[in-house]
Amino acid sequence: MAPGLSSPGRRFRAYTVKHLDRLTERAGLSPDERLAVRAVATVLPFRTNEYVVERLIDWDAAPDDPIYRLVFPQADMLPPEDVGWIGGLLARGAPDEEVRAAAHAVRTRLNPHPAGQLALNVPDYADEPLPGVQHKYPETVLVFPKQGQTCHAYCTYCFRWAQFVDEPDLKMATDDMSRVTGYLRQHPEVTSVLITGGDPMIMGAAVLRRYVEPLLGPELGHIESVRIGTKSLGYWPQRYVTDPDADDTMRLFEEVAAAGKSLAIMAHFSHPRELEPPMVAEAASRIRSAGGIIRTQAPLIRSINDNPLTWATMWRTQMRMGMVPYYMFVERDTGPQGYFAVPLYRAHEIYRDAYASVSGLCRTVRGPSMSATPGKVCVDGVVEVAGEKVFALHMIQARNPDLVGRPFFARFDPRAIWLSDLEPAFAARFPFDNVPEELPGLWAPEMFPSLT
Ligand code: SF4
Repeated sequence: MAPGLSSPGRRFRAYTVKHLDRLTERAGLSPDERLAVRAVATVLPFRTNEYVVERLIDWDAAPDDPIYRLVFPQADMLPPEDVGWIGGLLARGAPDEEVRAAAHAVRTRLNPHPAGQLALNVPDYADEPLPGVQHKYPETVLVFPKQGQTCHAYCTYCFRWAQFVDEPDLKMATDDMSRVTGYLRQHPEVTSVLITGGDPMIMGAAVLRRYVEPLLGPELGHIESVRIGTKSLGYWPQRYVTDPDADDTMRLFEEVAAAGKSLAIMAHFSHPRELEPPMVAEAASRIRSAGGIIRTQAPLIRSINDNPLTWATMWRTQMRMGMVPYYMFVERDTGPQGYFAVPLYRAHEIYRDAYASVSGLCRTVRGPSMSATPGKVCVDGVVEVAGEKVFALHMIQARNPDLVGRPFFARFDPRAIWLSDLEPAFAARFPFDNVPEELPGLWAPEMFPSLT
């Protein structure tokens, strides 16, 4: 085994692309297959760690093991011509510059920033854009801390993969909390701040404090909850138990609760195996003792968690550990979406079958939900209305709050994997499509008073 990059003071050991060939050899891949995997890892990020490799992956089942597939790139995640092109460059030892240019060309075809993130969601403060902040829904602001834009391991399906590749134009982050709090003071409608990444829990307690503490002051009394989006409970639960700053982190969480705000760990778990090591239960217990609540979420991913038993087992185990199942997401329209996507109709079947098999305490979960440009669109099912087979949908979240919770329909399409694949049914457009004034001659605004 290649030695990993160890971190002093804790036993965290990262594996990067340098270790990929040795690790994929352990999975039984041939030299050609390993070259193809390296080609994919030249375009998309790869990083894992010793805990994931030694404790979570079932190497007897690799490369089909779901946790192996969660962190190791697959040769067919990218079009074969791209894999062949970059694999050829690697095989002949092409100059770094040439390899980088090829990787960049492939990335630009992968919709690196889905849902209009760079263009639509960055707010202005003092007449200038506030980079590293997103304000998409009125009540929630997302903060991307500069030091939190990496993760303990990378998921192969990550929709934020562009944050992790070596291209400054594809990154968004801030380390200027005085501007962030200045913006929040001007926006009393914001009640929740989500600190996200990457994984903010990659930051040590002292650095995390620089982002959390400024949110606790009396001038931000309208902030009711501080959320931290993280996969650390799955990839490095030691962060809350045995890391040198685990106790300091708990004290910080206690301060959030003492300030009268809810501290919510938005925990990403992809598969029930991530919940098995006893350290995870211990971490969850410590977070709860510090006043935090853990809400769980993950996308539905082909070949990793695309069956109802996997989800039902996850939700039941999480509930037993005091966590609250929160979201099943649909794989987003970026990166290798085509490879990991599950058709929407099938996603709903999996959700419904899992939901039907768990107790009411697990039915806090919502989904399958698409985080798309207009908002979070939930697939409620496939129904027949007036002789037509349609998807029933509603918006869980919307840029326009007036659209939240209103049902609407789309024509059934068994191949649809994302909102953009759907056509409206019983209407000429979706509720979130252009407002009537933008379609002169077709619509009179007074026909849709609630949308104008
Ligand atoms: S932990 Fe989250 S941000 Fe990090 S790679 Fe996985 S999905 Fe992406």
